[in-house]
Amino acid sequence: MLDWIARKRNGENLAEGEIRDLVQSYTRGDIPDYQMSAWLMAVYLRGMDKGETLALTRSMVESGLRLDLSELGCPRADKHSTGGVGDKTSLVLAPLVAAAGVAVPMISGRNLGFTGGTLDKLEAIPGFRVGLSIQEFREVLETVGCAIAGQTEELAPADRKIYALRDATATIECVPLIVASILSKKLAEDLNALVLDVKVGNGAFMTSLDAASELAQNLVEVADSFGTRTRALLTDMSQPLGFAVGNTLEVVEAIETLKGAGPADFRELCESLAVQMLILASPRMTPLEAQGKISTLLASGQALQRFGQMVEAQGGNPRIIDRYDLLPHSPHRHVVTSRQRGYLFAVDTRSIGFASMNLGAGRTNLSDRVDPSAGLMIHKKTGDWIETGEPLCTIYCGRDDQLAAVMIQAKNAFQIGERKAEATPLVRRIIESQPAAKRAQGA
Ligand code: URA
Repeated sequence: MLDWIARKRNGENLAEGEIRDLVQSYTRGDIPDYQMSAWLMAVYLRGMDKGETLALTRSMVESGLRLDLSELGCPRADKHSTGGVGDKTSLVLAPLVAAAGVAVPMISGRNLGFTGGTLDKLEAIPGFRVGLSIQEFREVLETVGCAIAGQTEELAPADRKIYALRDATATIECVPLIVASILSKKLAEDLNALVLDVKVGNGAFMTSLDAASELAQNLVEVADSFGTRTRALLTDMSQPLGFAVGNTLEVVEAIETLKGAGPADFRELCESLAVQMLILASPRMTPLEAQGKISTLLASGQALQRFGQMVEAQGGNPRIIDRYDLLPHSPHRHVVTSRQRGYLFAVDTRSIGFASMNLGAGRTNLSDRVDPSAGLMIHKKTGDWIETGEPLCTIYCGRDDQLAAVMIQAKNAFQIGERKAEATPLVRRIIESQPAAKRAQGA
């Protein structure tokens, strides 16, 4: 291990076998945390080339169980988002894509810091279980076509251990380590297709288009090398997605979208991601056909019905679809109004995410309890005209110890002026691997 640390520190590349030995030894407990920390910091400072990143990803996948879902008899696709504010797309995408005949085995994460987590949103539904065993996950997939659950002990255990160490050693923000971490979990799901939603903007981990593109390019190249058709959409996170931020509020907005309503930006993103999942999973399908199918599934209520089936199969109460009063609701509501008139030219999205977290909708530590009813409803989008005294957002909270501070935080997050900001497209760039692009051109 000392030699591997020193060589990485000096900027040398490690061979595939060395990386495999290192990951296996660390996962077994044969390498102490202090040496692994030093190696991770060397990787953080020196980087890794594509071969090393591939080797690290492969070793982390092989540290655990790799599902075999071939018996489902249909293509499998999933989506991974790098995290944002108000991002409830998984709740719509899984049943929508499943209703189109493509299975969606989705392993998701929890909220941490200013970004939301799919598992916390689903747990706002009374009875919904995200802690499925592998066998239960398979059964839900077989009967419903989609399942959303948390990472189990068996899937990519090396990532679990390494991620916890990175979190404690300031080595999270490192492209090869992020690539291996994200893909080790996704590649264990036995997918044919993977769509990555890489968020860009002041409510995302990547605030610049260049940084997001670099991460996206690395993710698609590595995933493609494993034979999983992969594409990344770089999407705007310079304001919250949709209007709802907070668990119950987001579940309701997702259901409204499955009913064919919902905010325009959120619906557009769900449709764009669903089109990509369908055409990657079924290469003979054209984008136009995929779009037509998606519109039909939303308009006919089939996607909504599939959502209800997934909720029921995972122990939740499917009656919430028509009875929002069965979801946890907060006793207090407070409207935040504008001090001035003008155009909304920017939103400090990260502040909105932290405001939601401070209300109890999120957590600072993984052991914190989440209040499913807490959050904010945003009333204005960038470019909207606002009169003095008009509502900017409504705060939902169960306790008011943080209320005064959160109201100021939320008010300050809306920047209003005379200038109307230029609209940012929701999908800013699409990235696919070079070999895949060449294949598509028949080269
Ligand atoms: N999400 C992950 O799963 N891993 C990372 O390293 C970063 C984000």
